[in-house]
Amino acid sequence: MQSDTQALSPDQAVCHSLSDPDSFIRPNPDKFFAREGVSPLSHAFDGKIAIHPGLGNQPLAEEEMRPALETLLETPLQGKTVAYIHVPFCQTHCLYCGFYNKHYGEDDSRVYTDALLAELAQWRDCVAVQSTPVHALYLGGGTPTALEAADLERILKAARENLPLANDCEITIEGRLANFDARKMEACLAGGANRFSLGVQSFNTEIRRSMGRLGTREDMIRGLELLMSYNQAAVIVDLIYGFPRQTMNCWLEDIAVAQSVNLDGADCYQLNVYGQTPLGKAIQQGSIPPAADAP
Ligand code: SF4
Repeated sequence: MQSDTQALSPDQAVCHSLSDPDSFIRPNPDKFFAREGVSPLSHAFDGKIAIHPGLGNQPLAEEEMRPALETLLETPLQGKTVAYIHVPFCQTHCLYCGFYNKHYGEDDSRVYTDALLAELAQWRDCVAVQSTPVHALYLGGGTPTALEAADLERILKAARENLPLANDCEITIEGRLANFDARKMEACLAGGANRFSLGVQSFNTEIRRSMGRLGTREDMIRGLELLMSYNQAAVIVDLIYGFPRQTMNCWLEDIAVAQSVNLDGADCYQLNVYGQTPLGKAIQQGSIPPAADAP
């Protein structure tokens, strides 16, 4: 990995390799972050860098919010644009999760969707929304798949009516397989969803339970097979490695199951343990064993 992308552009890199193929096998250490001479999978880097947006930021004071929003809405966007709709509810809180989320109550789906649709209509003509086509739309969270089927379809319809979606816009629904039934899947597909990114995290039922995840391994596989049987959208899952009590065999089994259901992809993440989460506290108190470190 290059530490200075200005130092060697991709074009230069190709020429470099053609003229001296060995130069890629023995790179100049000054140009790379990675440590050489050690196992690249486990010891090439000192550690992870947190990259979540907003880390270290402070919320705006209430009286500053509207002026800041109005400035953003009147600022044209450039290049390819992504629209992200945040759905802040989760039916349960996973032990390791540090994201903001709100417990899901019975009326929340309808009330939230009504408010969202009103705001989409209110801002549809502003400069930021109309300045350039939207090439990707995400419903993220939280758990968008917690919403009722009719509300998922209403949101996707309103997004198509109010946002300038490009003809080839990728429309992704993020969520969980628990409580994502055929009616909800069909509502998303009817609304134009062409990609699902689902947090499975682990297929292992015991690990799932110990981390507060809903559903069993069999539920996960059944849900994925059902979603893929429509053959209308890409299906991707998130998997996490490094859970407490997750042995290497458990992890290899997770990968094997993901492969066996012929997914379009799997994103693999190392578990982050944050001190303020229930998992962080349980590990500090010794009621749950530590998570794996990077090596
Ligand atoms: S479903 Fe996702 S957002 Fe919700 S608590 Fe679990 S990890 Fe966090």
